[in-house]
Amino acid sequence: MLLGRRIARVELRRADLRRAFPPDLGQRLTGATVSGLGRRGKFGLIHTNRGDTLVFHLGMSGKWRVDPGEIHAHDHLLLETDDGRRLALNDPRRFGSVDLVPTADVGGWGPIAEFGPEPVDLEPSGLRKALSGRSAPIKALLLDQRIVAGLGNIYVCEALHRARISPRRAGGRLSLASVDRLVSAIGEVIREAIEAGGSTLRDYARPDGELGYFSKRFLVYDREGRDCSCGARVRRIVQGGRSTFYCATCQH
Ligand SMILES: [Zn+2]
Repeated sequence: MLLGRRIARVELRRADLRRAFPPDLGQRLTGATVSGLGRRGKFGLIHTNRGDTLVFHLGMSGKWRVDPGEIHAHDHLLLETDDGRRLALNDPRRFGSVDLVPTADVGGWGPIAEFGPEPVDLEPSGLRKALSGRSAPIKALLLDQRIVAGLGNIYVCEALHRARISPRRAGGRLSLASVDRLVSAIGEVIREAIEAGGSTLRDYARPDGELGYFSKRFLVYDREGRDCSCGARVRRIVQGGRSTFYCATCQH
């Protein structure tokens, strides 16, 4: 609904989310045509023909509502296209963000400048290099966006289980074969999740309001005390303040 459309109207319904909206957001977006859409890590990218890119992050609870019937209190930014479609950025907890960045500078902007490769572009040689000499648990290292961008807690747990690697293992001590298995597992998990439309996490929903279905396929995530496919019980530990779910029988 956005690609190739002109943005006819922009309405800011408050001044900030996690941080302030760009003060000239309306002026720079109104009348611009959307020339491309993209993503880097967990940031969504909306490119315009004026050389600007709207960079958004959905934070904990954000979503785009498509053609909302009525506007709700938590719809903070409205975009209207030249063919009368409406998008509302809804974010009750306001951990999300919206920035406007020159398209040419996006790669060097803010946290994106530090990002490692996308999960689907990860290569064994690159990951081996990034993990080399690191004594932190592999679980924590995979959550570091500088090592791999946009891989969240759910997908790290699931990928480690598929690769049969313990989340507690030191990143720098994984064998070559383990790193190979891990890279394959990360790619598989992410591709399957995208195909399934994401994961259902409490208030998560796709823009069309349908829930994602990947959650039905979790093998370990959020399954503490339940059976792993091997028959052992899935365990939960806390690493770096985040829950890790794994099977001590399958994962070494
Ligand atoms: Zn198991």
